Amino acid sequence: MTAEVQITRKGEKRWRAGHPWIFRSDVVAPEPDQAPAPGALVRVRGGRSKLGWAAWSSTSLMAVRRVPLPDDLDPEAGWLALVDAAIERRTGRGTTTRLINGDPDGLPGLVVDRYGPGISIQALSQTAFQRLDAVVARLVDRFAPQVVVLRNDVKVTRHEELAYEKRLLLGDDPQVEAPIGRLSIAFDLMEGQKTGGFLDQTDNRLAAARFLSGDVLDCFSYDGGFSLQLAARGAQVTAVDVSEPALERLRCNAERNGLAIRTVGANVFDQLRAFEAEGRQFDGIVLDPPAFCPNRKAVPAGRRAYKEINLRALKLLKPGGRLVSWTCSAHMTRPDFEAVVAEAAADARRWTRVVERRSAAPDHPSLLTAPETDYLKGLHLQVD
Ligand code: SAH
Repeated sequence: MTAEVQITRKGEKRWRAGHPWIFRSDVVAPEPDQAPAPGALVRVRGGRSKLGWAAWSSTSLMAVRRVPLPDDLDPEAGWLALVDAAIERRTGRGTTTRLINGDPDGLPGLVVDRYGPGISIQALSQTAFQRLDAVVARLVDRFAPQVVVLRNDVKVTRHEELAYEKRLLLGDDPQVEAPIGRLSIAFDLMEGQKTGGFLDQTDNRLAAARFLSGDVLDCFSYDGGFSLQLAARGAQVTAVDVSEPALERLRCNAERNGLAIRTVGANVFDQLRAFEAEGRQFDGIVLDPPAFCPNRKAVPAGRRAYKEINLRALKLLKPGGRLVSWTCSAHMTRPDFEAVVAEAAADARRWTRVVERRSAAPDHPSLLTAPETDYLKGLHLQVD
């Protein structure tokens, strides 16, 4: 029998405003001894009326996460219908793409990335984890992948009382080559960050390669997401990252594609200072750092870090130079990020034009009613 969960008036207001997450403190019924099974798909009701379907977590503070199940199907069939619909929406994006993006696709906790012949999955809610086999079967039917991996090596598994783990679900070789733009990129689905790489920047890397040319510096390059696309369009690229294994993968991918990229293993903060001391200047710079504001408490320090790298980068640009600047901090809003970069521009005394505002690729939709899902914010800037 389908369990029912009642939420408070405050919770109901939040639900009606379109927010997909209702906290445990806004759940009024049932009593703990009649609570739904962990991960169940439950009916949610407010004071008077039925509100809809949700994924139930028995342990997380985020107890209720909305699932827009179709009315005409039973909930389990409805879950798979949402999977199919998400995949359908990616039609035309090629073979390297995010197929399912969690809450914005109505599938809380479920992320599926396709890297050419490989598929990498995160099932980070009890609900998503319990339905993993059915989802994998669906993906195998549709795409016949050579390899499927589970990347649940993420801290939030603790809140859901799921195992912190990564493992092969199908096949035996997690090394895949996947087409991105005109290049063929090698990914290690077991060892790469997150699901093996950062597909949210795919379209932005191609756009940056159109926007920047000449002598270009790629800061926080990781394994070369931006650098490789820049070099493919003829830029002379210097990539800086503190991780030697990441730079090694960048060099392998450059070689595989017949490209030459200079790599510098260094702390970006130090390296920008060193370039300034040498009087080195660039036609273009990319800043795509890790999240400097991983939580709310870190926002002031994170702000200072974003300001510093943007200030130093702006100073290193030749007249007419261009800056591509990113933040992936969900806790830094777009207006706040732009204010920080504006302060940097003022301090650098550069006349700075915004040429384009960008966000995550279209296969990583966010929810209009949950602004925190719009975590990736970027600026294309041009200076005098
Ligand atoms: N731009 C990359 C993603 C960057 S991820 C892409 O398009 O895929 C963040 C990267 O920053 C990681 O590779 C990490 O090694 C690096 N990093 C973090 N702090 C750093 C620092 N202070 N100096 C240099 N690299 C740093």
